Amino acid sequence: MVSTFFLFSSALSMAANFTSKSNSKASGSHMEAMFAQAQKTQAALQEDYKNAPMTTPRKAGSKVPQARHGKASGLKPSYGSAAPKPKPRSNAISSEFEKKEYFDEEDVLSEKIQVLAQWIRESRYCIVFTGAGISTSTGIPDFRSGVNTVLTTGPGVWERKAHGIKLPSQQKKVQNVLKAVPSPSHMAIVKLVREGLVKFVVSQNTDGLHRRSGLDPKCLAELHGNTNMEHCLKCGSKFMRDYRTRTAKAVHDHLTGRTCDDPKCRGPLVDSIINFNEDLPEDELDSAFENAKLADLCIVLGSSLRVYPAADIPGDMIKRGAKVVTVNLQKTPFNKRCALEVHATIDIVLLKLVKEFGLEVPQFQLKRCFQVDVRNDSLLIQGLDPASKTPYSFLKQVKVEIPPLKKDIELMKEPFEVKFPRQVVLSKENPMPVSLTLSFQGHYGEPELRIEKDIEEVGPTMFLLTFDVTTVEWETEVLEE
Ligand SMILES: [Zn+2]
Repeated sequence: MVSTFFLFSSALSMAANFTSKSNSKASGSHMEAMFAQAQKTQAALQEDYKNAPMTTPRKAGSKVPQARHGKASGLKPSYGSAAPKPKPRSNAISSEFEKKEYFDEEDVLSEKIQVLAQWIRESRYCIVFTGAGISTSTGIPDFRSGVNTVLTTGPGVWERKAHGIKLPSQQKKVQNVLKAVPSPSHMAIVKLVREGLVKFVVSQNTDGLHRRSGLDPKCLAELHGNTNMEHCLKCGSKFMRDYRTRTAKAVHDHLTGRTCDDPKCRGPLVDSIINFNEDLPEDELDSAFENAKLADLCIVLGSSLRVYPAADIPGDMIKRGAKVVTVNLQKTPFNKRCALEVHATIDIVLLKLVKEFGLEVPQFQLKRCFQVDVRNDSLLIQGLDPASKTPYSFLKQVKVEIPPLKKDIELMKEPFEVKFPRQVVLSKENPMPVSLTLSFQGHYGEPELRIEKDIEEVGPTMFLLTFDVTTVEWETEVLEE
């Protein structure tokens, strides 16, 4: 449970401004601004598309196709540990036809969105399946957009390679991903899941934006890994980091050079990125197929559906008669078999969809959680995932000011631990005033944050931090057991 604010102190100039803000800020003007931006982008893209030298132009979006109803015939069995694990396979785009981008006319689009909203209302279990297209509006290029793409992120990675177009440097790519702010679509999904309209999200993306958007990890399967996650080869523990975990240069080398956070284990850590011809993570794959089995509606957002086994998820749903809706600028190999095909930018579709339900898209806020564990002889500060409360490394440095220490201590790396020169005894009458100055990795320009709290008994105290990327302000709360 969340307690009220307790905080004060913003001694460090730019730091923390603890104003209590109501949620009303996340509505009205913010939603309108999001909409205006998405509409502007869509209009500009559509204009560019009209002017682009395309082959065999074809009128986009004819009529809303009828949904196909059919009996469920059961999916293929999920990939259990006994079964050989499938590896991602891909059909590279080969023809201009496949690279061509389409835009539905406005009235057609509105009609399709009404149909989609109705199907979501009627559905028993709706899932969302996302590909690179959901992240292009955040500045991260996709894989399969053609040379003629109207997207500002330019041709996809494979297309650039095929045409010898220079790829962004690795460093730039990493920065783009880490600094990317979840798109209106990512945030709309968070809302649809919170409202129970969408039950589960399967993603092929490794950019980590679904987790950063605040989507409950229990409702998410990341089939191809997450750039921020590494796991232990010995004990299997997963660790989230606010930096790119991948350090290896060779494609199939995944050792990161770090060791397990658990001092009793210290096994080697590997990044979670899945490259072509590598096994997909069994737990993520199983949960994706299990949820797809329950689903009667799947909304595919920004995926060309050409990478397997991921594309089997909507593919198998179609086979057993469930509805699959694709939202993509390009056509997909499923376009003749899906229940509805929408050609528009994903942001515009999801913003309109959320509006159709009379809901608001929440504004992105970066959530951080950490624990201060005061013992009789030491103090330990540990970053945690706000949802799962598992270790999350997002602190770069912690400055500790506490009475048992004669001078302030700057802890430069994890574990952030201080031993006391003598045992301490804490009580209500004799609390320990703890003052911490936190430094972050700072991908969103998070300023240092100073936190002060009187700790009255030994044991852990958990803090929830919320960072508003637009106002550059922190809010701090104490989480109570
Ligand atoms: Zn381990």
